[in-house]
Amino acid sequence: IKLPRELFPDRHNSRGLDLTDERVLAGLSAALRRSVQVDWKAMPTWGDAARRDFIAITNPADQRDVVGHVSWAHEEGALESVKRAAEAFPGWSSTSVHERAECLEKAADLLEDRMENLLGLIMREAGKSAPNAIAEVREAVDFLRYYAQQARDSLDGADALGPVVCISPWNFPLAIFVGEVSAALAAGNTVLAKPAEETPLIAAQAIGIMHEAGVPEDVVQLVPGDGRIGAALVGSPDICGVTFTGSTEVAKIIQRQLAERLLPGGSPLPFIAETGGQNAMVVDSSALPEQVVRDVVASAFDSAGQRCSALRVLCLQADVADDMLDMLRGAMAELRVGATDRLSVDVGPVITAEAKETIETHIEDMRSRGFKVEQLELDEATGYGTFVAPTIIEIDSVDQLGREVFGPVLHVVRYARKDLPQLMQAINATGYGLTFGLHTRIDETIAQVTAQAEVGNIYVNRNVIGAIVGVQPFGGQGLSGTGPKAGGPLYIGRLARKVDPVDDI
Ligand code: GLU
Repeated sequence: IKLPRELFPDRHNSRGLDLTDERVLAGLSAALRRSVQVDWKAMPTWGDAARRDFIAITNPADQRDVVGHVSWAHEEGALESVKRAAEAFPGWSSTSVHERAECLEKAADLLEDRMENLLGLIMREAGKSAPNAIAEVREAVDFLRYYAQQARDSLDGADALGPVVCISPWNFPLAIFVGEVSAALAAGNTVLAKPAEETPLIAAQAIGIMHEAGVPEDVVQLVPGDGRIGAALVGSPDICGVTFTGSTEVAKIIQRQLAERLLPGGSPLPFIAETGGQNAMVVDSSALPEQVVRDVVASAFDSAGQRCSALRVLCLQADVADDMLDMLRGAMAELRVGATDRLSVDVGPVITAEAKETIETHIEDMRSRGFKVEQLELDEATGYGTFVAPTIIEIDSVDQLGREVFGPVLHVVRYARKDLPQLMQAINATGYGLTFGLHTRIDETIAQVTAQAEVGNIYVNRNVIGAIVGVQPFGGQGLSGTGPKAGGPLYIGRLARKVDPVDDI
């Protein structure tokens, strides 16, 4: 088939690092060692640095390792930052879209050039494996370049909103942080960037790079803190929009807070939320078992299951379930769980001791309710970190899932071929709609099942994680988010007053 040239814009995603190359690995080890020598710092952009108190940020893979220190904003400081962002708005919004885009592209180049130095920090602050840390930097670079180009293409002459609050999560402490911030900036808004309280250090590096690339200090300000600071920022009457990635519960609170207010001119404040999922994968008896196993392991256990896209429930056609599960157990036994300074590790820690406790409480609860639970043995070397053993729990039906469990826990359900439509109804009935995977070699099944799935991202015969900016716009429906999808053509339009009608993809 010959596809028209215009479907392939002249755009490249960020290059990565070849982890099979000994020299690259040696460079990475050296960068990790260098990262340990630095006392990484994060503090609010605005305020008197000399008068700050700092608290330690520790490595989830080894809590004896202090990665750096953060000084949280206090409420008055956060509101002063909003005031400064409001004052900086006329200047930034009237710079040409090309100038703004150039600043973001410069920031992308700087990030890419300094990738090696940032990897050690990401691995230690967020407990990421080396490939996951590399993917973080690449995605951040992609977001900067993609939104810069989108602004040029679709927002030339459009009015920006004003100060926008960007609240981002710890599971993609660089990529999603930079994604939200760069979209808001590209559209001409000023930004109050609140990183997750667990991962402010890498966020501070990203903001430093944006300032170095020419974005003025009051135009993008770091405002680190916990949920109270997020609430203070969102509650400020001067803010004109919010982007948020995190839990459905917090998204609802923000939405209620924003519902009380309107922009001058009477429209509601734009709110983009990307939240959780109860993501399912359906596997039928025609699927290729080796491929299924590889994709299930990646979908459920990569990043220790701490992606909102991660697979939570694997639905196996009963006729092949025993064989598939045997192969899956075999593949899981090969997973290397451990401290991420060992570059060969597959599954790192979960983010905090509280997260570990929540996940393990769920596992114990399921065990005590009589469900079959199987877990990998953890190595003793994991004792200083917050590790959770990759786990499989066999349940009888999708409605037994309960709440989203944000960790390396995969539920498995068996279904009979004739009940496939009912299975899809049960998956839709969770109310979430983020990712969905299907493994089959029957075209008719692909057509039927994908037509029934009420989700943002459908993946057929592959894993369900790792959406690529500009290639697979990412975001859900229902309890999973408001849209527009991150890394897609509609995202920045929501952060401006004039929206070009473009077909959703
Ligand atoms: N975009 C990521 C992926 O496709 C997930 C983002 C998230 O976890 O918030 O894996």
